[in-house]
Amino acid sequence: MADPSLARGRGNRSRGSLNGKLVSSLPGPIQDLIASLGKLPGIGPRSAERLALHLVQSETDSVRSLADALLRARERIRQCPSCGGLTEQTPCAICTDPHRDGGLLCVVERPTDVLSIEKSGGYRGRYHVLGGRISPLSGVGPEDLRIAEMEARLEGESVREVVLALASDVEGDATSHYLAKRLASRGVKVTRLAHGLPVGSGLEFADELTLSRAFEGRREFS
Ligand code: ZN
Repeated sequence: MADPSLARGRGNRSRGSLNGKLVSSLPGPIQDLIASLGKLPGIGPRSAERLALHLVQSETDSVRSLADALLRARERIRQCPSCGGLTEQTPCAICTDPHRDGGLLCVVERPTDVLSIEKSGGYRGRYHVLGGRISPLSGVGPEDLRIAEMEARLEGESVREVVLALASDVEGDATSHYLAKRLASRGVKVTRLAHGLPVGSGLEFADELTLSRAFEGRREFS
């Protein structure tokens, strides 16, 4: 059996193009682990290999507690049926918090956007996660997003303002325009965050002060 630490050293020296060769010379279970880790966001082939080789040389107990934490988080965390955010209880703590302003509904692309906005501390309304944005190139249309669920909430809840907090790139803008148009006949005020957010990126790249100012400076959609 190949010694992973030796293999790792060889990989470091050979760099780049020989990476594939190194992986194929590793024992099957390590290759499987590299393949699984490589599917995670932000983990490239070299990072996946480094993590896998680290893990197979770690104490069994520490690997087991990592595996347990992964499974426990996955099994306990679900999507809030109302807002679409991540939660352990359903509906989530934000949807059920009586101290939040139910008249304000902030529309975001992903559950992680809720976390970014919450960290900024500049918003005390409720949320609605779309689950993405309209992207003809990727085959994502309005029907693939949680827009019907949003409209159902507007019927059932006393929302006076919908705040669109989508990314400030072409697809994010197109999705905002689509939503504003679709909401126009509902008699609800539609606003969007003030400019100042990083152009072409999601909310997670905005610092907390910028996000909280973007909320304060939000303006009516025109
Ligand atoms: Zn919720």
